[in-house]
Amino acid sequence: MNRQRRRGTGRRIRQEKRIIDAMLHLYCRDTHGAQKSLCPDCARLQDYAHRRLDICPFQEQKPVCNRCTVHCYSAARRAEIQAVMRYAGPRMPRRHPWLALLHLLDKLRPSPKLARVTR
Ligand SMILES: [Zn+2]
Repeated sequence: MNRQRRRGTGRRIRQEKRIIDAMLHLYCRDTHGAQKSLCPDCARLQDYAHRRLDICPFQEQKPVCNRCTVHCYSAARRAEIQAVMRYAGPRMPRRHPWLALLHLLDKLRPSPKLARVTR
């Protein structure tokens, strides 16, 4: 069986990107007044978040970010994304019920330890 898959293209990672995008848009629209596209700062953060997901060592076994055992963000980016998640997290069920539900289910997964991950 071929488990070798191009990183950043699996179902789990794609879903994480959709969730982070939805959270960023919600946050940016409400706090930075953005319309269709993100403001430059949020666009940079989105780009960063996507790249972290592309190289996430867990890939398809990835836990939700706040339960992860690997801290892959730099301190500054981490503070930025935490502000976004703190704001957007509680608002997700109303604005994006389907994504919020999927994310809730992901929270119930056990957090893998890095050593157990198949590469
Ligand atoms: Zn913004």
